[in-house]
Amino acid sequence: MLTSICGINWGDEGKGRMVDLLSEKFDIVCRYQGGNNAGHTVINERGKFVLNLLPSGILREDVVNVMGNGMVIDIKHLCEEMERLRAGGIKITPENLKISDRAVITMPYNVLQDGLEEDRLAGKKFGSTRRGIAPVYADKYFKKAFRMGELLSTERLYKRVADIVEWKNLTVVGGYHADEIKTEEMIAYFEKYGKPLAPYICDVGLYLDKANKEGKNIMFEAQLGALRDIDFGIYPYTSSSSTIAAYAPIGAGVPHLALDNSIGIMKAYSTCVGEGPFTAEYFGEKAEKLRALGGEYGAATGRPRRVGPFDVVASRYGIRCQGAKEIALTKLDVLSDYEELEICTAYKLNGEIIHEFPFTDVLDECTPVFETVKGWNSDISKCRKKEDLPQAALDYIAYLEKACGCKIKYVSVGAERDAYIEMY
Ligand code: GDP
Ligand code: MG
Repeated sequence: MLTSICGINWGDEGKGRMVDLLSEKFDIVCRYQGGNNAGHTVINERGKFVLNLLPSGILREDVVNVMGNGMVIDIKHLCEEMERLRAGGIKITPENLKISDRAVITMPYNVLQDGLEEDRLAGKKFGSTRRGIAPVYADKYFKKAFRMGELLSTERLYKRVADIVEWKNLTVVGGYHADEIKTEEMIAYFEKYGKPLAPYICDVGLYLDKANKEGKNIMFEAQLGALRDIDFGIYPYTSSSSTIAAYAPIGAGVPHLALDNSIGIMKAYSTCVGEGPFTAEYFGEKAEKLRALGGEYGAATGRPRRVGPFDVVASRYGIRCQGAKEIALTKLDVLSDYEELEICTAYKLNGEIIHEFPFTDVLDECTPVFETVKGWNSDISKCRKKEDLPQAALDYIAYLEKACGCKIKYVSVGAERDAYIEMY
């Protein structure tokens, strides 16, 4: 069985937490895109963990974790993340972590480039996380990137470094007038942070294909939401990779296999980090209340997230892009402190009501249409069964199901592993 767990919205839906919960049913958890630009927060009986690069299954002893070819890996960050988890008592060995030889290495100069460009943009920033993600994906498609498999025969790798560095300096020094990148420093970097990772690097496609034939349960874990997908998201305010479920088998290393299921993680309200159109956005007091209740500050960057009510138009689009067959609705407990709840049910564009998510440029001219429904105004964080939920909460869930056209199978009411309800 191949299952994808993906984000329906702008990210930070609680994917890490749901993957941590659902990974119990899986033998293997794969990351298939992105790098350390986003963060998953997972709280379980062993403590609180922030994962940027490692798949969330790393927190379960018997799960094998795969980092796929679709990823870009900052090897220094990965070494440090592994150290941090080990200090928290997490076991990481070549048995439970397998890194694709085809995954691309995020270089220090990619991080530098990201910062230089954001600084150049000054007031016109795109809201990059400055982790080098866009530059390294650009290098990948320029065919000037280094891949993890090259760390296995460094003699060949080191011969290539000088040429790449020369090319990169055309931009860094020639374009941005920054300090020159030095070949020796890059080689020293590979020695320090690449060599320790060598035991984990392999052909993960071969491993996954075999595991699939043996009937293993494989999960693909997305790192960002549908609306950040490079093709289908709010470009250019997107990530630089394919975040959607259909890309999962490709980015993990098994392009010949099809998904059996796609579970969409959808937040009970809306949040969005950084720039870009966000039609249902709340401002002022309304925003501050929701942000505080939801603790909406980025896991990787600490940036306050923009917030708003649930957005039917964007979520229905996200569900379609992800091909989600069932939904896990997260953070419903955050909405417990309201007499009434607003839902963005449509957008208004040039005086007309629209229900389909439009092209990014058009989004700027859209204003939200809000509907008000009854809130439950009571603590639901202790609810563990459908019957425990107040009627107004059940009505809210039913409303979203109907409006979005997808069954809600799980509802989470707290960050802890067991704080969820299975609806059917
Ligand atoms: P991800 O990027 O999609 O994995 O999500 P993040 O980890 O960036 O953000 C989700 C945040 O909400 C984390 O701090 C979680 O611990 C927390 N969280 C997840 N599910 C719930 C929930 O049902 N209720 C509450 N109150 N917090 C939750
Ligand atoms: Mg996140």
